[in-house]
Parts: sequence; C-alpha cells; structure tokens
Amino acid sequence: MRLDKFICKSTALTKAQAIAHIEEGDIKVNGNVISDISAQVHENNEVIFSGKQLFPRPFRYLLMNKPAQTICSNIDEVYPSLFNYIDIERPQELHIVGRLDADTTGLVLITDDGRWSFNITSPNKSCPKVYRVHLRKSIDISAKILFAKGIKLQGEPQLTAPAILTIVDDKQVLLTITEGKFHQVKRMFASIGNKVVGLHRESIGCVTLDVDEGQWRYLTVDEINDLN
Ligand code: URA
Repeated sequence: MRLDKFICKSTALTKAQAIAHIEEGDIKVNGNVISDISAQVHENNEVIFSGKQLFPRPFRYLLMNKPAQTICSNIDEVYPSLFNYIDIERPQELHIVGRLDADTTGLVLITDDGRWSFNITSPNKSCPKVYRVHLRKSIDISAKILFAKGIKLQGEPQLTAPAILTIVDDKQVLLTITEGKFHQVKRMFASIGNKVVGLHRESIGCVTLDVDEGQWRYLTVDEINDLN
C-alpha cells in the first residue's frame, strides 16, 4: 500500500495531513526517513510516526439493501447517497463494489479493500450476480437461448458473456450475469425489444441479500473469503 494510504489507515489524519507529515520527514520506515508519499509499504514494515509504530486498521466489508432513489456514490447528487443509511466511522474511506442505478434496489457490497473489490468486478473473474427483473412486456422463451449465447449491445464490440435466464412468470425473470457493463441488464432486455420496469439485485457470488431495505451488516469471514 502507498505510504500516504498506510498513514491514513493507521491514524486519524486526513490525506492532506498525512502527505504533509511525510513530506516534512516525520515518517520512518524500517529506520529510514521516507518523504515520498507514493513509496510502497507492506504491513510487515515498521512505520514510525511521533515515536510510535503504526498499524493499519483492518479492512471493512459490508453489504446493504439499497433503497430506490439513492445513488451509489460517496456524495449526495440528484438523489441522496446510500451512505446516508450507513452509520459508520470514516465512510469516506469506503467504496461501492459494482454500482447500481438510482432506480435499482437490492444488494450492494461496500469495502475499503480495493484488491477484493477488483476480484468481484473484473470480468475475468466471472463472479455471478443475480437480478430479479420486472418487464413491461411478456418474455419470450427464446430469450433464454439468446442470453445464453451472448447479446450484442449497442456500442459494445463484443457479445455479452453467457447469461442464465430463469422465467418466474410472463413478466418476471431472474437473470444471472458475470459482467457489470454500464446499465447491462436494462440494455440486454432493450436489445430484445423489451423494457425493464423494476430491477433488484438478489445476490453476488455466495452472498445473498438478507437484510431489510435501507439496512446493512458486516460480511462474515466466510463470505469475504468466498468472494476472493
Ligand atoms: N444493470 C442495469 O441495467 N442497472 C443496474 O443498476 C445494474 C445492472
């Protein structure tokens, strides 16, 4: 981790304050003054500030049930940020893993561990996400085959990765996808002439939504490891 991040994660200093202390030569790493804010430090390194060794706080991993008309952003914009629902220290250190649209509800993962979130969002990792989709028009059973083969989305050079469509009733389906392209689910149904009128994410990998709308909880160690 970069030295400035290490200092922020192990003290109450802001990023600007951490940078100022590093540049003033107040930080020693393994006995040497390091004034380069981007120097890489490892958890095993001895980092000393004001005569004390620093230890980074452990990463945090949460899930929440996103209400509609909230946004997956750290700040309020047209709609309020979903962080308004999370009463937690230092929310600015957290980021959302795979954003949902303002009108989409359901499972959102939140963390400050960038490597872990990359494993979930990277298309190469093929982490399955299940969406419950309500449609304007009745679904034709042929969509199952089209989605399994991959769909050509407008503006995308490649077909979507194979997706699993399970029909619940004529206007309700479950869709499992392993990618997270911009508005992917809405665009997939648009490409077969239908329209998504309700979208709810039910699971990501092994993690299934089990809290009420607007509520959150920490992930278990098994959930964190399974998603890795
Ligand atoms: N696909 C969409 O179209 N919207 C979302 O919010 C998530 C997936």
